[in-house]
Amino acid sequence: MYIGRFAPTPSGPLHFGSLIAALASFLDARASGGRWLVRIEDLDPPRCMPGASDMILRQLEAHGLGWDGKVVHQSARTEAYREALEQLRGLALAYPCTCSRSAIRASASRMGREGPIDPGTCRTRHLKPGHPHAMRLDTRGAVAAFEDRLHGLIQQDIAHELGDFVIWRVEDLAAYHLAVVVDDAWQGVTDVVRGSDLLDSTPRQVWLQGILGLPQPRHMHLPLALAANGQKLSKQNLAPPLSMTQPTGQLIEALRFLGQPATDELVDGTPGEILDWAVRHWRPSSIPRAASPA
Ligand code: GLU
Repeated sequence: MYIGRFAPTPSGPLHFGSLIAALASFLDARASGGRWLVRIEDLDPPRCMPGASDMILRQLEAHGLGWDGKVVHQSARTEAYREALEQLRGLALAYPCTCSRSAIRASASRMGREGPIDPGTCRTRHLKPGHPHAMRLDTRGAVAAFEDRLHGLIQQDIAHELGDFVIWRVEDLAAYHLAVVVDDAWQGVTDVVRGSDLLDSTPRQVWLQGILGLPQPRHMHLPLALAANGQKLSKQNLAPPLSMTQPTGQLIEALRFLGQPATDELVDGTPGEILDWAVRHWRPSSIPRAASPA
């Protein structure tokens, strides 16, 4: 059975960009007769805004986006992430690392997709117990590929493009990539539909799924909505929150953004009526690939 999900980070209320991800993942699930789950990715306390989780759920409800089952909060899942970390340690792939950002900058011989590449200084270092450390994965030789439903074959030489990435942070928190892979498997997610800002993260996640023996979901990465300055619409660049009083207009705009030609009669519909129409007419093949202004 199809199981989809929407996995917002509660760093603020939803904006138009997040509505696109929520709506597309909802429609793809419902058009396949599947379930649609909501997972609040509140892993990182300093990034979470008080009250944002409740606000997000109310915004989803106001737009008729009803989820199945209980909302999962990542903050309650630390033990599961720790088990996965132990599994990776058991495979001799995870190792403690005490390097600061500036040490990595100083020792890196190359720049990768996400900054200077850690040369693996701590791979063979023996740490004294009690020393604060992150955990990195030994990525030597790691390459990953997956077939995106919109973008086709995506391949990444993880060792070369990212290097040994962090899976457990020095603050004693699971890193996003580990948590997302553990949760998607635990929740039985078959289909990940999310923004293209995460396209670069997926090979890493697919590789982790392989190592941990977890199933690999299908993926579809959606075009990004751009702010007036050409950057991704985001909470950081102060995208306005979705209005609770104009769900109809926002849903129609989001449908059009996704290449689903919402007809003018829908303007008078309720969110539920618009979503019923959209489920019946859902055509993922019409979703544009390129980012465009919101
Ligand atoms: N929590 C991530 C975000 O809000 C999305 C993670 C995902 O869909 O895998 O950007």
